[in-house]
Amino acid sequence: MIKVGEDIEVPILGSIAFGLIDRGTNVIQVRPVSFCNLNCIMCSTDAGPYSKWRQAEYWVPPEILLDGVREIIKYKGIDKVEAHIDTVGEPTLYSRLIELVQGLKDIGEVKIVSMQTHGQNLSEHKVEELSEAGLDRINLSVDAIDEKLAKYIQGAEWYNVRKVLRIAEYTLENTKIDIHIAPVYLPGINDEEIPKIIKWALKTGAGKKWPPLGIQKYIPHKHGRKAPVKKVMSWYEFWNYLKSLERMFKVKLIPRLEDFGMFKTKPLPKPFRVGEKVRVKIVAPGWLKGEKLAVDLRGLRTITVVNAEELHEGAKVSVRIVRNKDNIYVAIPT
Ligand code: SF4
Repeated sequence: MIKVGEDIEVPILGSIAFGLIDRGTNVIQVRPVSFCNLNCIMCSTDAGPYSKWRQAEYWVPPEILLDGVREIIKYKGIDKVEAHIDTVGEPTLYSRLIELVQGLKDIGEVKIVSMQTHGQNLSEHKVEELSEAGLDRINLSVDAIDEKLAKYIQGAEWYNVRKVLRIAEYTLENTKIDIHIAPVYLPGINDEEIPKIIKWALKTGAGKKWPPLGIQKYIPHKHGRKAPVKKVMSWYEFWNYLKSLERMFKVKLIPRLEDFGMFKTKPLPKPFRVGEKVRVKIVAPGWLKGEKLAVDLRGLRTITVVNAEELHEGAKVSVRIVRNKDNIYVAIPT
């Protein structure tokens, strides 16, 4: 595991695997760790012990993340910020999670602190601590209620969906945290589970302040795990599926940005254009095989260099930027 600020000095912006992401809204994504202990069959980031593509994992101390959040807020000039802890792994594995939540909540402009999780590492005590630290919402992924199927989808015999549901119910009854249930629909795999999940979410009182449910479409990713679905739905088919469930259960399943208090804001400036040649220093292995982590020589952004097997740590090289969307930088050697 590579510790940012200890093993390597890199800007907190630029990588998809750790740090901070601004997508031009009032929501700042906070990524303190990259690893996970599940092996979900549809994992878009190929996380967990069975990962085929990953070669490095990262850990970032809260102090560095909090300084970065303050800087972003200052630049954007907004005061209704949601800090959303959403990793390419599992945030509850972060050893300093409580400090991070507390630190985010202590920033005056941060009105909401939320977190995504599959819930496998939560306990009654942990959710009480998170609530006291200021966590407002958990986006909880529950992909099946059937215990055997849940173990299959999460790729782990030890995964216990009963426990996850019990902790969710406890959270809603005994803490200030709201829960938004977010299953991934896998056609041909969890068709019978989605209505059960909706019924459970409604019965249990999820969605005290935010929409109770947000069903997600399965999208295969190049380096993600490919679930053996019957078919990959088009967006048109998926929206129609959601509309039919909305009619059946009389619940809104197609939320708008406003339902989460989200709005567009000034995005952060992008120091590098796509196609631009940039001098960088190679500082560490990249997240996935064949990649290296680099920093431009002015120290503005972390840059992931792909096809970089031949580049050695410490080398100063020229790369060409091939992606800069949302200030996440990918480059190729020139
Ligand atoms: S989907 Fe989430 S919980 Fe499942 S393996 Fe990937 S990162 Fe872990």
